[in-house]
Order: sequence, then C-alpha cells, then structure tokens
Amino acid sequence: MSATEATPKKNHSRSAALFEEARHFIPGGVNSPVRAFRGVGGNPLFFQGGEGAWLIDEDNNRYIDYVGAWGPLILGHRHPDVIAALQAQLQLGLGYGASTEAEITIAKTICSLVPSIERVRLVTSGTEATMSAIRVARGFTRRDRIVKFEGCYHGHVDGLLVKAGSGALTLGEPDSLGVPKAYTDLTHVLPYNDIDALAALFEKHGREIACVIVEPVAGNMNLVPPVPGFLEAMRQVCTQYGAVLIFDEVMTGFRVALGGAQSHYQVTPDMTTLGKVIGGGLPVGAFGGRREIMEMVAPLGPVYQAGTLAGSPLAVAAGMAMLKAIQAPGFHEALSVRTQRLMKGLEERASAAGIPFTTHSVGGMFGCFFSTEDKITRFEQVMACNVEQFRKYFHLMLERGVYLAPSAFEAGFVGTAHGDAEIDLTLDAAEQAFAAL
Ligand SMILES: *Cc1c(COP(=O)(O)O)cnc(C)c1O
Repeated sequence: MSATEATPKKNHSRSAALFEEARHFIPGGVNSPVRAFRGVGGNPLFFQGGEGAWLIDEDNNRYIDYVGAWGPLILGHRHPDVIAALQAQLQLGLGYGASTEAEITIAKTICSLVPSIERVRLVTSGTEATMSAIRVARGFTRRDRIVKFEGCYHGHVDGLLVKAGSGALTLGEPDSLGVPKAYTDLTHVLPYNDIDALAALFEKHGREIACVIVEPVAGNMNLVPPVPGFLEAMRQVCTQYGAVLIFDEVMTGFRVALGGAQSHYQVTPDMTTLGKVIGGGLPVGAFGGRREIMEMVAPLGPVYQAGTLAGSPLAVAAGMAMLKAIQAPGFHEALSVRTQRLMKGLEERASAAGIPFTTHSVGGMFGCFFSTEDKITRFEQVMACNVEQFRKYFHLMLERGVYLAPSAFEAGFVGTAHGDAEIDLTLDAAEQAFAAL
C-alpha cells in the first residue's frame, strides 16, 4: 500500500464554508494574515477547540499542534493550572482600571527570571512592547536612529516595517503601504548574523544610534540562531557608543530557556520585550530593562506610555499560572530534549527518503528547511529554500493529522503536552510525507 492510499482525505467542508462566509465580513477572512494559508495554498482551517497537544477543527478532525497559538501554549491547550487561575479570577471581576496585587507578583517574577529586567511594564501585545521599548530607548539616549536586522519581525510598528535599502549602510524603505517614508528614514536595516556590517554602521553613525533591536534567536524567518559572537558584538558596540541594546524576546522569552535567550547565550541586553508565552494564551506583552532606563517612563519620567487594559487581572492570572508551571525543575531541559528528538527524527527520515532537509532548534522552538545547505545562518539562505516542497509537505502532514505553521518562514513550537506518543506519530507521518514528495 502506498503512503497516499494509507491515508484517506480528511473532510474540511465546514472549515471551507466558514472561510467563505468570513471573507464577507473580515478582510481576507482572517484577523492576522498568516492564518489565511496564502503561504501554502488551500483553505485555512477553522478550529473549535484544543486539548493538550491536540487541536480539533470544525469538521472534528484532530491534529497534533506545532503552532501552539504562535508560541504562547508552551503547556498545551487548556492546561489545568491556567484554567483554574482564570476561573478563580472570573469570580472576582474582569478588571478595575486600577492596580492589583497580582501585577506586583508577576512583575517580581519577571524581574527575577529575566536577567536584564529590573523594572517592567505590562502591555497587551508584542507590537506594543517593541513600539514602547523603542520610544523609551530614544527618550533615554535622546537620539533618533534605530537599527534592526533583515528577517527579524518586531510586530507591525510603523518604523519597524522596513525592508533593507540598497546597501547595508543606507536607510531602510517602508515594507508596507501606509507607512510614510519619513517614518522609516531613521531605521537602519542590517543583515542578520553579519558582525562586520554592524561594526561598520556603528563606526559611521554610532553616536546617533538610540538602539539596536534584535530577535536573539530569529524566529520570524523560520528559525535562525545567532552565530557565535553576533550577540556579543552587539553588546560590545552598544556599550561603546552608548546605544540601548533591546532583545525582542516576544517569541524566545520563557521558551528557549527560563530566562530567555539572554540567559541561554549569556548576553545581557539593556532592555527586553516579552509577549506570547508570558500571557499563557491571553493577550499580554511586556517591556522592561535597567532601572535607570525604565525610570524614563511616565509617570516617573518624560516618555509617555499607557494602556487601558494593561495588567488585566484575567491576563495576569493566566500569565502567572504559566510562569509558575514553567519554573518546575528541568522544565526547559526536558522541552529541549523532546524538540531535539523530533528534529533528529525528521532529519533521519528526510535523509532516508533522499530529501534535502536541515533543521535548527533552541529550547522549545524549531525550524525546518527544505534546503541543500548544511546549516542555515543567513536570510538569503532561508529565502533560497524550496518553498514548493514545503507547501506539499505541509498538506501531506495536515492530511496525516499534523498541524504545522502554514508558511515556510515561521518557526514551530513544541510544548510539554507533546509526549513521546505525539512525537512518534509525527515522525511516522513525516516518513510517509517525505516518501510521497
Ligand atoms: C510575534 C512577535 C511580535 C509581535 O507580537 P504581537 O503580539 O503579534 O503584536 C514581536 N516580536 C517578535 C519577535 C514576535 O515573534
């Protein structure tokens, strides 16, 4: 029996009907673009629920979930501690627009877990966190220029929706209609993992640069870890020229290690942005850093920042339950081992089928590349991967009950709910998918 015969086609009729209806009321039928399956073709699925490592779609198909709500669900769907914390808070109220003790508890926890954070403020999304961090860095340094890296995503902040200009030392161009050229005129875009380009830019403009913002493990161009020395070089030039180093740990925070990428790689930035995992599935973001920098923020300082729903008791309850659970001894070590087992298994099966394929993983996040390269370290290498092969693989896996991110350029996530059984099922599905490619 061939691999394709072994797996009957799943029924997706209700998802297809819902997508058709959604398109009449929501732009593109989705509330965030990657959900629309444009990167893989076909209709997106609509989901009715989740349980542990599993998702259940509107046609009652079950899938092992490697998206995890794009990162937050490190404990899986409906973890009992998170649900209990939410239920307890529901009895008390949804929000007061005033301070609660729980906000102190979560702030203390964040300050104790993340090496760079001495003071922290909660916001409601990753975008809001990076936008605010950059404003604070500019206020603190009284400088305007900022530096980001090609392939890194920091949310849809105007000044960060930038693509590289014609040369590494030139300023970026807007990457979205609606972003005035003037908004990106102060944003430099450098190649990720290029230490020389960083040094050259600082030599020329170092004293005008307010901050460098970087994903310490790039998770928005598939997954590209920093090459040895890259984060260290960034730390060195920022210190030398008095610029603020911001690690955008919205994805990596609490995921690659308890203290984030900064503890994993032992490079301490001046500021850190958080999101995704920190809310346990509810909308929470945060930015924090050295005390003298964070004291620039209103009401203490002259940098304005505010939020009606910031520190929402419900979101804080979910986030705190999650932060408690992930402090269990050996939590991240076990997560890393599981993720590595999955990656090694996939590489072996691809190799047996003669498919050029390579992977990266750090903690509970991973990247898979249909590529002949040994290891991927640069944006151009990511862009050169075989996207067509990924598209086919995505649908072959979906038919076999494995839900991957619907784009060749997104990282994947393993959580504690992914047991050996789920990993084995995934590897069996992959073996069939590789054979069918
Ligand atoms: C997801 C993400 C953001 C944006 O967060 P939102 O909550 O979607 O606004 C910012 N930075 C990084 C590194 C991310 O992965």
